Amino acid sequence: MTSVHQDIDSVLFDEDTIVEGIERVAAAITERFEGGDLTVVSILKGSCIFASDLIRRIPIPLELAFVSASSYGDRTTSGDLEISFFPTGEIEGRRLLLVDDILDTGKTMNRLKAEFLERGAAEVATCVFLDKPSRRSVDLDADFRVHEVDDLFVVGYGLDFAGRYRNLPYVGVLKPEIYASASGSDMSVPSAS
Ligand code: 5GP
Ligand code: MG
Repeated sequence: MTSVHQDIDSVLFDEDTIVEGIERVAAAITERFEGGDLTVVSILKGSCIFASDLIRRIPIPLELAFVSASSYGDRTTSGDLEISFFPTGEIEGRRLLLVDDILDTGKTMNRLKAEFLERGAAEVATCVFLDKPSRRSVDLDADFRVHEVDDLFVVGYGLDFAGRYRNLPYVGVLKPEIYASASGSDMSVPSAS
């Protein structure tokens, strides 16, 4: 059997560490949004696994929405951001929590935050599973973050390389030959720096 686990060089965050971090952040979010009108907006595709684990640990009433934003496509270098929105009716007057898999340069979050405020959100807070502060190119920090990572290209728990590895239950780094074989095809080698 071919398994995605075979391609992993090292594990950065195992399942227990992920759950502990999510419980801590969920408690903080619950405290901040007690009182109502919360809509959790999961940025697809990367945050779907994180968002689904997160909201099940937030006991206050909330709604769930999705937005699709992608700056990477099949590659791992930053390009233009493509956004497709859900209906504006779900946004006006709501308190939003934008959820993403990783905050890297910050461009994705920054752009989406501005868009949602323009579309009438009462408030837009941000929550990321991973934070790479060393890579930031815009003035934005997440209001909530689960774990911090160094300047490494990571996969798993929703994060992909060329569409794969989202189903890993942990976060890890791929073996160098995986990137090398990808660069021989139409995919570029990840440049996390
Ligand atoms: P930003 O707009 O903050 O530069 O980019 C955020 C997006 O870049 C994330 O949602 C994610 O899709 C992608 N990204 C950034 N760093 C990594 C990484 O280390 N691994 C993976 N798989 N995706 C990353
Ligand atoms: Mg993403």
